[in-house]
Amino acid sequence: MRRGNVELIPGKNRGHYPYSNSIFIDEGPGIVIDPASDEERLLALKKNPGIGIIINTHYHEDHFLYNHHFPEAELWVPELDAPAFESLETILDYCGILGLPDEETWRSYYLDKFNYRARKPDRKLKGGEKLQFGKTRMEVIHAPGHTPGHSGFWFPEEKVLFVADYDLTAFGPWYGDRVSSLEDTIASVEKLRKIPAEVYWVSHGEEISREQAEGRFAEYLKVITVREEKLLAFLKTPHTLDEIVDQWIIYRKEREPVYFFRFAEQAMVKKHLENLLRRGLLRTEESDGKERYLKND
Ligand SMILES: [Zn+2]
Repeated sequence: MRRGNVELIPGKNRGHYPYSNSIFIDEGPGIVIDPASDEERLLALKKNPGIGIIINTHYHEDHFLYNHHFPEAELWVPELDAPAFESLETILDYCGILGLPDEETWRSYYLDKFNYRARKPDRKLKGGEKLQFGKTRMEVIHAPGHTPGHSGFWFPEEKVLFVADYDLTAFGPWYGDRVSSLEDTIASVEKLRKIPAEVYWVSHGEEISREQAEGRFAEYLKVITVREEKLLAFLKTPHTLDEIVDQWIIYRKEREPVYFFRFAEQAMVKKHLENLLRRGLLRTEESDGKERYLKND
């Protein structure tokens, strides 16, 4: 898929985890956004025409998988996510992993499976910045929530919007890190939806046309409402956090590896509980030393 000098490089495994799609900007020494798609293809681009800059949309492992192949290229990342690229401690902290019993498992997962290499970014990108590479213009669209710095990229000449990890899949948005925000996710998806693109490129999955996009954006946001409705229905009777997590409201069923998915299920359910408490739709009560959540009438 190519428009002007901007190309979508499909990720292996149809662009699904542990891979994601990359964007290649074919201008001089090229630019790659999220080098986590296809190792052979990325190494071939490194040889010819050469890669001068790599950009990450945010700090997640399925987006920096092959960053380590480009130590000589400049690294540009969103300002608010930059600390996570600079130290393993910070990325573990942002993800909510520091201090967990299986912290060491996560550490080796980042280092060995995803080639995490602490590195100081050469440039920190801010929302609204307009960049120019040769003939290609690109605007940084700060779209926080998924992570605080998560950014999409808008190519106004080509009318391509790279929405990055708001991938418009049937699973719905993901906001499971300690520093993720459910409210910011909703606002960011609404913001991206308003940009008048002809095609939408996503980190995971295939190109989406303007015609498909409206329905896909609506369904994507609807997933959040459905999760909330299921949670409120379950909390007509009081339940502990563990009991709520056992419902698998986010992932719909228990998945392997359980330590990984149960952790994410709990993190995302907690975002909903905090949101519902703030809106006065839930309350907590304590009995036999346990805290339980209950829907307000
Ligand atoms: Zn992500």
